[in-house]
Amino acid sequence: MMASSAPDIQLIDTQESRRWQDEMSDLVTEPAELIHLLQLDSGQLPDALRAASGFSLRVPRSFIRRMRPGDPNDPLLLQVLPGASELQQVPGFSSDPLQEAEANPLPGVVHKYHGRLLLIAAGQCAVNCRYCFRREFPYGDNHLSRKQGLAALGYIRSRTELREVILSGGDPLVLNDRQLAWLSGELAQIVHLDKLRIHSRLPIVAPSRVNREMLEWFTGSRLKPVLVLHCNHANEIDSEVRSALLRLRESGVTLLNQAVLLKGINDSVTALEALSESLFDAGVLPYYLHQLDRVNGAAHFEVPDQQALEIIEQLRHRVPGYLVPKLVREIPGVPSKSPVL
Ligand SMILES: *Cc1c(COP(=O)(O)O)cnc(C)c1O
Ligand code: SF4
Repeated sequence: MMASSAPDIQLIDTQESRRWQDEMSDLVTEPAELIHLLQLDSGQLPDALRAASGFSLRVPRSFIRRMRPGDPNDPLLLQVLPGASELQQVPGFSSDPLQEAEANPLPGVVHKYHGRLLLIAAGQCAVNCRYCFRREFPYGDNHLSRKQGLAALGYIRSRTELREVILSGGDPLVLNDRQLAWLSGELAQIVHLDKLRIHSRLPIVAPSRVNREMLEWFTGSRLKPVLVLHCNHANEIDSEVRSALLRLRESGVTLLNQAVLLKGINDSVTALEALSESLFDAGVLPYYLHQLDRVNGAAHFEVPDQQALEIIEQLRHRVPGYLVPKLVREIPGVPSKSPVL
């Protein structure tokens, strides 16, 4: 019995791992294909191509299957399809709104907050979100080199006040499980750490990423696993995403979500109520709702603070307190997210 079950498990691992990697090598990157798949008006194509030349289109097919065909205002589509509004220069929007270039003690490390730091483990993402500050920030497609990784580990070892390392990016889960298992093993040996956090959109946009190998390195060490997802709309959570999230939850991962408040996508109390309820149903608590970073090309997504505060106030009257995310923004130089007041 034992002898025959072991190879089966091996087989499942390999198939699972192949599935998400196949998905990553089959992303939709041509605006014409996305427009065709969703039966949209091809008149949008010239603008989409112009906007994509600055920041390319990139989206997993699994995410596209959750979009409504024929609907140019689909809330998932609007997050990924390049368009003319991105090409406008708007005062107050710049190429490095977070001034991140200044907070890197060494390549790949952003240490701005007490007790925790970001490790930029990968520059890539599975999806290119049109509102993202990354559209202008020069991470490139570089992964942390082994040498840079070792230097970052040395820095983390030397800063004994650190409790938590946050793997961020880009999206750290674009790295393969072998690399991530190595990194998490190294981190687990640093005695002053007690948590390993991941910031990732991959389990939402391509839930096949949540495989057995990932669960093993993420939940198999002494570090408490925390996963902060990035999901902006209830339609992003279909049954496959829900199963992946419940699997993480059952493995002992603390699941939180950060969303970005986006005009025309989730800037209503009904959209945010549905998002909070769908997240909870999948074992996830809402954590932050971000006012977007004022990066060039994202102005058309901005929701004024006054309106954002009103939406949150209404949400507070509709759902339990634990389903109301904190409305925040990032202000350069401030050592935490700042509440929007
Ligand atoms: C957002 C962020 C964190 C994490 O902040 P939490 O409030 O702990 O979620 C850590 N470091 C940097 C630089 C950040 O931008
Ligand atoms: S997944 Fe996150 S980091 Fe990547 S493009 Fe989207 S918002 Fe930016």
